[in-house]
Amino acid sequence: MTAAKAEQDLISNLQSRLKVISSLSVLYCLILSSNQHLSCNQLPPICSVCQIPLTVQHFMLDCPQFTVNRAKYFTVSSLKDLFYHVNAHVIVDFIKDIGFYNHL
Ligand SMILES: [Zn+2]
Repeated sequence: MTAAKAEQDLISNLQSRLKVISSLSVLYCLILSSNQHLSCNQLPPICSVCQIPLTVQHFMLDCPQFTVNRAKYFTVSSLKDLFYHVNAHVIVDFIKDIGFYNHL
C-alpha cells in the first residue's frame, strides 16, 4: 500500500465516522426535544392532525401531514434506516422544511 493510498483510506474512514457522529447528534437532539415534556412533568406533545403523541418516529416516518415533504428527502421505513442511511444534513433539511427545526 502506498502512502497516498493509506492517507486516502484514513480520510475516507474519518469521513465515515464523522457522518455517523453527525447523525447521532441529530438523533440525540430529536430525542431530547421529543422527551422534553418528561423532565418538565408535562403531557407529551400531540400531533395536531393524528391526535397521537408526537414522537420522533411519528413525525420523521409516519405522520401523513409530512408525506410530501418526506418524499423529497428520503424513503425509509425505520428510524434505524433513517439515521444509518440518510445523510444528517438531509435529515436536518427535512426538519427545517416541516417547521420543526426551531423546536429543537
Ligand atoms: Zn400526525
